[in-house]
Amino acid sequence: MDLYSGHINRLIEELAALPGIGSKSAQRLAFHLINMPKERVNRLAKVILEAKENVRYCSVCCTLTDQDICPICANDKRDHRTIMVVENTRDLTAYEKTGKYEGIYHVLHGAISPMLGIGPNDIRLKELMTRLQGEVEEVIIATNSSLEGETTAMYISKMIKPTGIRVTRIASGVPVGGDLEYIDEVTLLRALEGRVEL
Ligand code: ZN
Repeated sequence: MDLYSGHINRLIEELAALPGIGSKSAQRLAFHLINMPKERVNRLAKVILEAKENVRYCSVCCTLTDQDICPICANDKRDHRTIMVVENTRDLTAYEKTGKYEGIYHVLHGAISPMLGIGPNDIRLKELMTRLQGEVEEVIIATNSSLEGETTAMYISKMIKPTGIRVTRIASGVPVGGDLEYIDEVTLLRALEGRVEL
């Protein structure tokens, strides 16, 4: 990729390293950025840096947030006895968009994958277990229906069972390997309502 100058090449390389951006898109974005007014480029760079510096994990549910405790965990009107376990903050947002789920969440930031060398200690499972000592009555496992998501669901179920807390799994019917964030709200709600005991 030595068709362009060093600076352009470096920009293209950095952009191409982002998920979902191939080399063609990276080139298009790089030239777009270079042609943008300088103030807009500054603003974009600043927003990226500020997000990186200020976004942190909620000390309760581990979702990404600007505060120590995220607005969902801090909300007394939510049902704090029901915890829905999701793989990432995007999945949480997908359920929040339905506007029908009243419980709170736990964000794992990944799923167990022996193939990729991701074990139980590499995701936020310990944090989930420490939350179960309180008033929790049900844990809804809403990991993806991929092999990793199912493996994680089984693991969590085994971990929680001895505590006597009810463990449920959102209904399948969600396409295999499907990321929750791409699934429409009606399907998400159906999966939630049709959840089964584990
Ligand atoms: Zn939270």
